[in-house]
Amino acid sequence: MPRTGGAEQALDQVNTNSRPSELRITDMRVAEIVGAPFASVLLKIYTNQGIVGLGEIRDGASATYALILKSRLLGENPCDIDRLFRRIKQFGGHGRQGGGVSAVEIALWDLAGKAYGVPIYQMLGGRFRDKVRIYCDTDAEKPSGTETGKRLKERMDRGFTFLKMDLGLMQIADIPGAVVAPAGTLEGYKSHPGPSAAKSLQDRRARNAVYDVHNVRHPFSGLHFSEKGLDLLEQYIAEVREVIGMDIPLAIDHVGHISLQNGIRLARRIEKYVPAWLEDVVPWQYTEQYRQLQQATSVPICTGEDIYLKEAFEPLLKAGISVIHPDLLTSGGILETKKIGDMAQEYGVAMAIHMAESPIAAMAAAHVAVATENFMALEYHSADVPWWDDIVTGLPKPLVNNGFIAVSDKPGLGIDDIVDDVICQHLQPGVSGAWRPTDCWDDEYSWDRTWS
Ligand SMILES: [Mg+2]
Repeated sequence: MPRTGGAEQALDQVNTNSRPSELRITDMRVAEIVGAPFASVLLKIYTNQGIVGLGEIRDGASATYALILKSRLLGENPCDIDRLFRRIKQFGGHGRQGGGVSAVEIALWDLAGKAYGVPIYQMLGGRFRDKVRIYCDTDAEKPSGTETGKRLKERMDRGFTFLKMDLGLMQIADIPGAVVAPAGTLEGYKSHPGPSAAKSLQDRRARNAVYDVHNVRHPFSGLHFSEKGLDLLEQYIAEVREVIGMDIPLAIDHVGHISLQNGIRLARRIEKYVPAWLEDVVPWQYTEQYRQLQQATSVPICTGEDIYLKEAFEPLLKAGISVIHPDLLTSGGILETKKIGDMAQEYGVAMAIHMAESPIAAMAAAHVAVATENFMALEYHSADVPWWDDIVTGLPKPLVNNGFIAVSDKPGLGIDDIVDDVICQHLQPGVSGAWRPTDCWDDEYSWDRTWS
């Protein structure tokens, strides 16, 4: 029954199964999926009032990173987002290790929005824009720039207004004379140490050996582009631009594990093709190398998808990079990314957002993008995944429409539910079901204070 009177009318707008102040976390469960486009983990946080918060653990990360947080959250009011974030943030780290804390933080925002009947962007301060520009990432496995250009042109015909592609080592690694490499070095990059059911010691040793190759930092790989290699890479982007024209922004990623000096050589070669940015040329931790790289080229230099928390972005901003590229599922989630964007704005730096998961991650990023002034474009990596929109209900279909995501006034993320029939067709290998009990994490405990 509708109530009457100002305060009572206001309460009609909120979910008053009891009151938001009485909302409590009762459970946390996961669904580990693959192919949307990569492996990721969907997260549900359940409450005593029937509303469920949705989050997502980053592509390639373990569900464990979120589940270890469960015992620190049970019985808490999820609307106390910042207090709970500060409690758990010590359990996050850079790269995939930020995935658990970030997923939980997003689910808390979803719950707070649903409890009070407010979209997340509004809780962040409101809109700078109605819709979010998407950049469409395209893995450039094709050996020909013309062929990749045709794929990118197809994206443009579908309405995308901003593109990204790979340009680097792996496109030329098989061409004799294109890469200077210590013997055997390139071989390890051609396989990837994904999850495996390796049981024998021999299998595990082989997997660990590949893992180690992929963890050699760029300055220590000993790899260089030859002049022939640089000619080929320049030809590649020239062919792409020939097909797609010069009018559309085109960002560049996956240069490979090459040194700063090779990054500078490549950047200078491709300046005339006006990349929107050149991404992750060296590990983000090498602040001084980023300063040298940006000072050596007019190509905007970008990094950030593996950085956890705001404070690690500041040295790179001081070093003069041009675009930051946080991933909400690593950075610490929604409020931390809004803070990162606002800090970058003070340095005159734009924020693009990295995202390679389901519509849950996409909507979390879209709310931040709507509410952050210096936002430039949000990644979309699922243009070739036909079931991506079917993972959830309550969003427009397609969610990415003519190159943009429109963010509605619906509470929280704006998602009604996850479609179990769809995700259960795409569970990760070895996973037997979704939303299984996680009681074994209820009593996880440690005296976690980091000072005495
Ligand atoms: Mg990248």
